[in-house]
Amino acid sequence: MVELKTSGEIEAIHAAGQVVAQILAAMREQASAGTRLRELDEAAREVLAKAGATSPFLGYQPAFAPVPFPAAICTSVNDAALHGIPGRYRLAEGDLLSVDCGAALDGWVADAATSFTIGPPSPADERLLGTAMTALREGIEAAVPGGRLGDISAAIGAAGRAGGYGICGDFGGHGVGRAMHEDPHIPNEGRRGRGLRLSAGLVLAIEPWFLAGGKDDYRIDRDGWTIRSADGSRAAHVEHTVAITGDGPLVLTALSVRVVIRAGHRDGSPAAAWRLVLAGTLFWRDLHAVVRAGTFTRRAPGDLHPVVRAGTFTRRAPGQAVTIGEHAVT
Ligand code: MG
Ligand code: MG
Repeated sequence: MVELKTSGEIEAIHAAGQVVAQILAAMREQASAGTRLRELDEAAREVLAKAGATSPFLGYQPAFAPVPFPAAICTSVNDAALHGIPGRYRLAEGDLLSVDCGAALDGWVADAATSFTIGPPSPADERLLGTAMTALREGIEAAVPGGRLGDISAAIGAAGRAGGYGICGDFGGHGVGRAMHEDPHIPNEGRRGRGLRLSAGLVLAIEPWFLAGGKDDYRIDRDGWTIRSADGSRAAHVEHTVAITGDGPLVLTALSVRVVIRAGHRDGSPAAAWRLVLAGTLFWRDLHAVVRAGTFTRRAPGDLHPVVRAGTFTRRAPGQAVTIGEHAVT
């Protein structure tokens, strides 16, 4: 059954989504060569506990799984695409890590994932990660009232196939809110104009994952959870929880950052913003759209402004320099 959420319920999912966004930002900060995956799980649990939230991943046991999931995050390295269990493995320079995470707060759940490399990405990884983010963005842009579920699937699939990547039909996006997995299932490939008609109030986890080798086959580890490309090629997985609203898609797991407008200063600020974009927590175009919006530029330089909306703006060229207040990166 597909359930539409009220604006108050969407706000509650957004609150859970902010916890997820904080965890994924923490993962980016803490994951480096030598870090054990288990340490990342411990850090994620700390963020959840501080926020008064719980993990919908911990103890989760869907039909395909032989044992309950033993951690608060999924950590999938290199040829692992989904559902990797954070264990003793130490990250190494050049590893491609996907972190998937959920939070339950006051009875409402949000779900998101990000992928990044330890150290600078190789050209091949950069292209894979970039394509996954493009697919996510285009999938989100298709999440509008009056559209069809197939529009989202088609947008994601077109981006992945254009990149030459493999796409598996067995795992994809889903409704989310009261529970981690709700109807409808959202395949990562599909046909425009087909499927469920999209309405305001639908809350969806949109999550492209691509296999670099170009084949769609995967295998499952003996642990019963970890999904790897069958050909050993690398995988990337990115995800946001998105509410469909009359004003367009609202990304509930994008970090609500505060920006300081510093007219005339360009010192490193676009780089800071770019780091957040790469983290999957903010879309570059949104930042510029916000900075360029009259309501912000009319205010005095140095003012703090909340950025709460994402995914509803048109791409623009870099404009005025800004710094990220709450998540400063130098
Ligand atoms: Mg997820
Ligand atoms: Mg999900």
